[in-house]
Amino acid sequence: MEMLNFLKRWFKPRPGPQMVGDALVQRMLRSLKVTSLDELTCEDTFALLDQFVELVACGEDAGRLMPLVKQHLDLCGECYEEYEVLKQILVAANKPHPKL
Ligand SMILES: [Zn+2]
Repeated sequence: MEMLNFLKRWFKPRPGPQMVGDALVQRMLRSLKVTSLDELTCEDTFALLDQFVELVACGEDAGRLMPLVKQHLDLCGECYEEYEVLKQILVAANKPHPKL
């Protein structure tokens, strides 16, 4: 939700003459709407993470198949850590057992 706070600050009315025209604000708001529609929350990402990690473990291009998850992982350190942990578990589980 850092983005939201950032935007609130950005759009807070400032004293003095407005620096940006209405058209610019409209355009920004429009692109914001698109962005927020396309973005996953941490919860969404977490729900999809095991699928994503499985693709990675299979050598698939997970970033291409699930671009929104990839996008979130690029932006969110917490989810990325979760991803790293899951990946390590899965990779370890998929490793052939060493012969004794
Ligand atoms: Zn996240």
